[in-house]
Amino acid sequence: MLIDSFERRVNYLRVSVTQRCNFRCRYCMPEKPFEWTPKENILSYEELFAFIKVAIDEGVSKIRITGGEPLVRDDLDSFVKMICNYAPKIDVAITTNGVLLERYAKALANAGLKRLNISLDSLERTTFHHLSKKDALESVLKGIDAALQAGLKVKLNSVIIKGINEREILPLYEYAKSRDMEIRFIEFMENESADRSLRTVSSAAIIEAITGKYAVAPLQNKTHSAAKPYMDEDGYTFGIIEPYDDSFCKTCNRIRLSAEGDLIPCLYYEDAQSIKPALGGGEKQLHSVLHDVVANKPEKNRWSYQEEQKQLSARAFYYTGG
Ligand code: SAM
Ligand code: SF4
Repeated sequence: MLIDSFERRVNYLRVSVTQRCNFRCRYCMPEKPFEWTPKENILSYEELFAFIKVAIDEGVSKIRITGGEPLVRDDLDSFVKMICNYAPKIDVAITTNGVLLERYAKALANAGLKRLNISLDSLERTTFHHLSKKDALESVLKGIDAALQAGLKVKLNSVIIKGINEREILPLYEYAKSRDMEIRFIEFMENESADRSLRTVSSAAIIEAITGKYAVAPLQNKTHSAAKPYMDEDGYTFGIIEPYDDSFCKTCNRIRLSAEGDLIPCLYYEDAQSIKPALGGGEKQLHSVLHDVVANKPEKNRWSYQEEQKQLSARAFYYTGG
């Protein structure tokens, strides 16, 4: 079992399979062109799986595959199948921008996937294009339909940015609600790769936009989810992720593995330990790196300190997987 030095049990592993992406979301990727990590430095599915097996044997019961955009990596369904065949009872999910789902949703469901989180920040073509720098709203909506048709449980993630998509809080909410998909609004987290002009919309403003039409009450957070849960008058539940309120750190149960093999104890900090040297040394060494990184998991992130300490996280979301 993996317990960190603040008595938190770590049982959730997020695995990034690539940094690459077919979008360039303003809140995630830098404006100017940059170089991707060369393909030869990216771990193979077999190498990622060797670590995942060790993590599962240590009690990890939830795995999220992410990126960059995970579906730009070939044969993702075969990777999902490896994990689901090894441990059919664990919860495996993918976070995706959805643009390739029309093509892959069925194969992923056949591989054993049950759940997907799809990022959708706008239902307006021009706003979607402006935020993601890709004119792809229609394909993403088709991807969402394909995922639902394939029998996958879908949650939506929406990052809300001041002056850009804040007027869409209610339309996004109603779109998700009408399809019985939970939506989680995410406060924009400043970081060095994001467009510096972007400003977050507070959770209070998000709730206000919804309570203009629906009565809403907070629920008790009974899981380790980073999202604070709410329920509206019709029994529809949704969530808000507030990094500037670091109370979710108290129950943080997750670590992240990057596509290059860096094992990352916290989304905010640059600390990480590479699993690459341990890959050649067999399972014992992988167990040892895993225990080391869990032991060094920081108590909390520092997004809430930024105003007074002007510390922007250098961690890029396309690298950590969000
Ligand atoms: N490409 C996939 C996608 O967009 O869903 C998976 C990777 S993406 C890095 C994972 C999540 O991080 C997405 O839901 C995205 O909206 C979120 N994200 C990226 N940058 C963010 C930021 N600066 N603040 C808050 N959320 C962010
Ligand atoms: Fe790509 Fe996801 Fe980052 Fe957007 S948020 S640029 S889709 S990795």
